[in-house]
Amino acid sequence: MEDHIISVKNLSKQYQTAQASGVKNISFDIKRGHIVGIIGESGSGKSTLLKSIYGLVKADEGELQFNGKRILGPDEQLIPGHKEMKMVTQDFSLNIYAKVYDNIASMLSNTNLKSKQEKTQEMMERLHIDHLKDKKITELSGGEQQRVAIAKAMVSDTSVLLLDEPFSQVDALLKNQLRADIKRVAAETGITVILVSHDPADGLFLADELLILRQGELLQRGAPADIYNHPDHIYTAQILGNAVVLNADEALKLGLTVTQKHTLFYPEWVELKGGWNSRRFQVLDVYYKGFYEELLLERNGVKIRAIQLNRGAHKKNDHVQASVGRFLGYD
Ligand code: ADP
Ligand code: MG
Repeated sequence: MEDHIISVKNLSKQYQTAQASGVKNISFDIKRGHIVGIIGESGSGKSTLLKSIYGLVKADEGELQFNGKRILGPDEQLIPGHKEMKMVTQDFSLNIYAKVYDNIASMLSNTNLKSKQEKTQEMMERLHIDHLKDKKITELSGGEQQRVAIAKAMVSDTSVLLLDEPFSQVDALLKNQLRADIKRVAAETGITVILVSHDPADGLFLADELLILRQGELLQRGAPADIYNHPDHIYTAQILGNAVVLNADEALKLGLTVTQKHTLFYPEWVELKGGWNSRRFQVLDVYYKGFYEELLLERNGVKIRAIQLNRGAHKKNDHVQASVGRFLGYD
């Protein structure tokens, strides 16, 4: 078997619109069993890329392969899509008047009823929805419907699960559970998952690898921690974290030795210290973040942000000594 389950070579797709749209010259491979996060702002081409992989969108150029075999486009087959892949979008595509069990079981053939029943039961248990099996979809919450949609997508020996903004309908608590479940089910079953989101928190937690998309182009790919700590572009750092970006003038005013146009750092790279020193910042505001606080600091007219783990240590209008422990330069 091929080591790569999906391979994308020089994929381009331009919609018939005046503005630039779609995706441009994208190439990457996906390892079997990996969870890949595709992150980018709205309109960056994430859904276009996902639909091309599934065979719903016809590429203008390039080649897409599944297990080394070309993926057929929508004009090349009667029913667009790939039988070993399943896509879950925000609308879930469930039969809302049917029961949970029947929605999932409907994906399996009737040639072996015992196996159909066992597989459906197993998938409901994996996604913790077996207690809902006799409920109709209309009786479920958004988060529960999401689980049913994922169970339905995975039950028929699916080897690649494509998820387009899967957490957008779900509140924060359920989102955490669902993310953890997807990661666990992927590890248990060996399924390959491609997850698209504009919210980096979704992908960062789950993914073995992230692809950063901007205006249809693939900017950077790599392990989440690597690209977070070594972003090739300012955009990557801004979409993955809450990065502070200063121009050269501002950086010099803070006493940073810089040679490039832009200086970038994350709030957690700023070190706060007690004691008095000439490099003092004023605390302009304190943002509550749960177990920590974010401080908005100002010195010589330059504003930065810093993390304060020790809540309440520095308050609004206090003065605090801060130094930027690590920063990156970009032109
Ligand atoms: P994302 O999922 O990252 O928000 P999309 O892949 O949906 O981005 O869209 C990428 C770009 O292509 C956007 O500029 C969007 O307006 C354009 N686009 C997407 N689908 C179509 C379409 N069917 N017709 C014309 N333009 C489209
Ligand atoms: Mg989209």
